[in-house]
Amino acid sequence: MFCQKCGAEIDNEAVICVKCGEGLNKDIGLDKKNGLGIAGLVLGILSIVIGWLIGIIGIAMGIVGIACSVKQRKLFPNSIANAGLITSIIGTATTTIILIAGLLVSFLI
Ligand SMILES: [Zn+2]
Repeated sequence: MFCQKCGAEIDNEAVICVKCGEGLNKDIGLDKKNGLGIAGLVLGILSIVIGWLIGIIGIAMGIVGIACSVKQRKLFPNSIANAGLITSIIGTATTTIILIAGLLVSFLI
């Protein structure tokens, strides 16, 4: 695509023009900026919900959610990335505790 301000040809993935610094397609850019954070948030919430039912899947989702949120925080730190990180950590932690508790109970019985 081409920069609307200076006309320079730029990468489709670019968020700002490398030549003049103009922000590009701000709506699309915002989606891309928040994409990983939203993924992290959704995975975090799912890991909390699903973790109660299927521990291993909850942990996997939580870890992927943490990875997404951490990457998001490095690229574009914002509240969605923070919320995604927090929910993913809570999901992973609670799911791990539930799983370990379940294993301990099954060993004791
Ligand atoms: Zn430009």
